[in-house]
Amino acid sequence: MTSDSPALPTTHELRARALAGLGNLGVTVPEGGDFHARTPLTGENLFGLQAATAGDAEAAVADAHAAFLTWRSTPAPRRGELVRRLGELLREHKSDLADLVTIEAGKIRSEALGEVQEMIDICDFAVGLSRQLYGRTIASERPGHRLAETWHPLGVVGVVSAFNFPAAVWSWNTAVALACGDTVVWKPSELTPLISLACDHLLCRAADEVGAPRDVHRLLLGDRAVGERLVDDPRVALVSATGSTRMGREVGPRVAARFGRSLLELGGNNAAIVAPSADLDLAVQGIVFAAAGTAGQRCTTLRRLIVHRDIAETLVERLVAAYRRLPIGDPFDENTLVGPLISTASLDAMNSALARVQAQGGKVLAGGNRRLSQAAPRAAYAEPVLVRVDEQTDVVREETFAPILYVLTYDTLEEAIELHNDVPQGLSSSIFTRDQQEAEIFLSAAGSDCGIANVNIGTSGAEIGGAFGGEKETGGGRESGSDAWKAYMRSATNTINYSSELSLAQNVSFL
Ligand code: NAD
Repeated sequence: MTSDSPALPTTHELRARALAGLGNLGVTVPEGGDFHARTPLTGENLFGLQAATAGDAEAAVADAHAAFLTWRSTPAPRRGELVRRLGELLREHKSDLADLVTIEAGKIRSEALGEVQEMIDICDFAVGLSRQLYGRTIASERPGHRLAETWHPLGVVGVVSAFNFPAAVWSWNTAVALACGDTVVWKPSELTPLISLACDHLLCRAADEVGAPRDVHRLLLGDRAVGERLVDDPRVALVSATGSTRMGREVGPRVAARFGRSLLELGGNNAAIVAPSADLDLAVQGIVFAAAGTAGQRCTTLRRLIVHRDIAETLVERLVAAYRRLPIGDPFDENTLVGPLISTASLDAMNSALARVQAQGGKVLAGGNRRLSQAAPRAAYAEPVLVRVDEQTDVVREETFAPILYVLTYDTLEEAIELHNDVPQGLSSSIFTRDQQEAEIFLSAAGSDCGIANVNIGTSGAEIGGAFGGEKETGGGRESGSDAWKAYMRSATNTINYSSELSLAQNVSFL
């Protein structure tokens, strides 16, 4: 079944808006190639661009490596000045950048502005970090000796990023890597080249203004073949790759084969447990934002709801009512809460998962219809779906990158935690409860097995101050705040003998 409303901007209007925004940012679009910028709002192409060639990738890594040799010896607080200037430019151009995020990734205005705010926040964090790259002093077992740990820049960081956080993920990596003394070559998603051109342009401008080498950052537009160049290049010391578990399975072993480092941020299959004592008003709000927000296209999107049997009926009733009221459509419209899926291929994947889960006994409780198909036949607007399931079948245990929320019930907390952890992914998790003991059990070693575990808040919408990432098939990487910076540096242990004796460790005697 299809329900339609024609109120969408045209591709022509979106092209004009993108060009105006890029113009305000000072970016000239290198039009004319057959690598297309497109918009999920109408599902149509905006411009033809030039993709990077193998030669471009080679030159970008060589230039970034040459810049690294200077940048690594630039005092860290001075490196922070580049990041500070980038943050200022992001503040200045917040609105135009958010427009590009909406046009290319389909995010509603408030989330697109939030994405740019996240970039600003990580710049602030990384500026502070540039004065806090602390190493430890360690007690030596030998008299007249000092042991110290020092942290040094690593080299060129290859950043490969996904479409759904087309700018924020870049900034988490880049702001921290630059403060740490690394240089960056970025291969963004093939679906979001315009916001990438804008970010690259602002960073180059910041570099010029503070007198940093231009090649501290290079951008390579293109598809996965361009990403593979970074993966296989031994001059790329760290490959930070964000995307599907499928991508991580290819990238991880290839980087390891050349003894490079990788930081993998992959798919999630996030769950929330709702306990009998939960504040249901809070839970409904948190669940709907986490499950339907960003049209279900966050790595941290809530995909499984594990509800205590005693409150399941009441909670489901309230969720069904909330789902029926969700405004779906033009993400530039301030009333819209759910924008488009990135492509009709995503819609096909959603429909296929729904067909499979229904064949396995799942029951659709709300949503699931396609919207606006007459106004924009190449676009994919879909109603977020609630599906009641009795068990975690193979479909439920997979990440379908679309707004499907599977609802399961439980009787004991132990059973809920077991269900919660019984998936291959381990990114984000939460529990809604007013029982402190339950909350603490969920957060303990025997509780959630995820990299992110929350109480009385949904699974999505992390702040930059904490380390971000997950376990198991989510890849194990940590980015952004806390001490995630250590992945972008190498440590050296120094033993300094300031005595006149040569004493050997473990009391070994020799000569
Ligand atoms: P994707 O895996 O299709 O692509 C991600 C990036 O990897 C793109 O730039 C792509 O060109 C590149 N790529 C793909 N295969 C490659 C290869 N073999 N070698 C080198 N590069 C390769 O992912 P997507 O559809 O853009 O994004 C959605 C996925 O990303 C979801 O699974 C989501 O959960 C995940 N994601 C994870 C996080 C996280 O932090 N854990 C954040 C955002 C998105």
